[in-house]
Amino acid sequence: MASHNLAYIKIDELELIGYSVAGEETVVAMPQLDVCFDIGKAPDQVISINNILLTHGHMDHAAGIAYYLSHRNFCGQSAGTILAPENLLGPIRKIIAAWGQLDGNKVPANLVGVKPGDEYQIKPNLFARVFPTKHSRGSVGYTVIEKRKKLKPEYLKLKSPQIVELKKQGIEIDYQLEIPIVTYLGDTQYVDFSQLKYIAESKILIAECTFYETDHTERAEAGKHMHIDEFTELIEKLRNEHIVVTHTTQRTPMREIRSILKKTLSPEKYKRVILLMDKRRR
Ligand SMILES: [Zn+2]
Ligand SMILES: [Zn+2]
Repeated sequence: MASHNLAYIKIDELELIGYSVAGEETVVAMPQLDVCFDIGKAPDQVISINNILLTHGHMDHAAGIAYYLSHRNFCGQSAGTILAPENLLGPIRKIIAAWGQLDGNKVPANLVGVKPGDEYQIKPNLFARVFPTKHSRGSVGYTVIEKRKKLKPEYLKLKSPQIVELKKQGIEIDYQLEIPIVTYLGDTQYVDFSQLKYIAESKILIAECTFYETDHTERAEAGKHMHIDEFTELIEKLRNEHIVVTHTTQRTPMREIRSILKKTLSPEKYKRVILLMDKRRR
């Protein structure tokens, strides 16, 4: 029996499973990419994923760190990798060490501190790029980018012996094509993310939109979260094919959130939007 009833979304061949309610828990996994954005309370369904991309240290996003690591060990899996803002590595090490003492077993971990601009290799052709967000000290978001080698256009007409010959001469015949697959913003106030091309052009955007009601703008400001008005401004500037909305407040019922989104967004954007918590398996 799984610990959580997670939402499930399939976009083309990519599966996305997760749970995200503001103040309660946020965890969004993409198993085929072998990444899990934030860890929430470590649902069973994400334990086997090798890379946790942590955006910030708030409890609802990070509480499951020790359990995730320890349970992998218990199941005979390799130490999990946790990418986290570098200012959080000290506290994370302390928590893991303290849990090791409580539990009586050392908790193996591969901790990687990250800062904006960093890139971490997930698979031979898959990288997580780190960008800054506006939420808590050191908070970051991630874009998972596939890199492919492509033949430069000027060599496209050549036959393979000619290509071999050019390679022998040490001529660079390839260029690198970057395909941003998914961007996860984590918790953040409005920032003009369209300035970063790889975010604006990610096939999938996973974005928080916490508050929806007019009198919730101050709450959004105080918690450094996005309000629907800012969210609308943001996504109008982006070109993502699919937009997954996370981190919805419990203060507004789901059906109202749905209708406010429909009223506020342009029809062209609304049809791209998927509300994560609407997609829970019953
Ligand atoms: Zn949060
Ligand atoms: Zn937060």
